[in-house]
Amino acid sequence: MQLLAVYAHPDDEAFGSGGTLARYAAAGDDVRLICATRGESGKITDPDIDPDVDLAELREAELRDACRALGIGEPIFLGYHDSGRNERTRHDDPKALMNVDEFELEAALRPWLAEFEPQVMITFDPHGAYGHIDHIRIQRAATAAFWSAGSVTPRPPRRLYYTAIGLERMREMQEARPRSPMAGLDAGLYAVSEASFAAVLDVAPWVDAKERAIRAHRSQVGPRSSFAPAERDEAAWRAYLARETFTLGGARGGFPEPPVADLFDGL
Ligand SMILES: [Zn+2]
Repeated sequence: MQLLAVYAHPDDEAFGSGGTLARYAAAGDDVRLICATRGESGKITDPDIDPDVDLAELREAELRDACRALGIGEPIFLGYHDSGRNERTRHDDPKALMNVDEFELEAALRPWLAEFEPQVMITFDPHGAYGHIDHIRIQRAATAAFWSAGSVTPRPPRRLYYTAIGLERMREMQEARPRSPMAGLDAGLYAVSEASFAAVLDVAPWVDAKERAIRAHRSQVGPRSSFAPAERDEAAWRAYLARETFTLGGARGGFPEPPVADLFDGL
């Protein structure tokens, strides 16, 4: 089976779906990752990294390391630019994802759908996890490409899943990690009720791989980030990593009684 994950930045793949990607790769499925940008507007959170480093190069290398940790193939970069956030927002960069025409972005995804013919796709939820404009842009493009793929391949994807976080877990996370981008968000808007889950995956056996993938994004999870080990309760963190949850973004054909425990259930 083929599984395609579509995200905006290096590290997006690891937090919401790293265990899932590792699990299917370990089962022998062909797991691919498309990353729209090289995350060049991120903040360096590790003081041991030279602040003048070429961040695009570094984050590309970090994503390659993360993919190795997850056991999946080399990532595919679409070559757009990270739009940044807050004071780093790239309003004037025409290649920043926020400034790219949505139809262009959809069209950039379609050749990969034609080539891989994934049965299942994964991307962000409609709120882009915590509202990052690039997450929202790639989510819309991936959703549009899921539907328009029928015109570029005789075997278009059967299911599109969105990474999703349940209300309770979001509230717990907001409390446990007050510096996280999730903190301060309206949980009623950015999270979903557990009843909305189409898939709940136990990825406990792949927590170590997921953790290694998260750590591979060294520039993003350093001591100055909200994921600094000192801030977290290790057991709670591992339990958090061991469960990945998804809503359904689209389906061709039927869908079993949700939530399924396997993204390919019934295919
Ligand atoms: Zn991101």
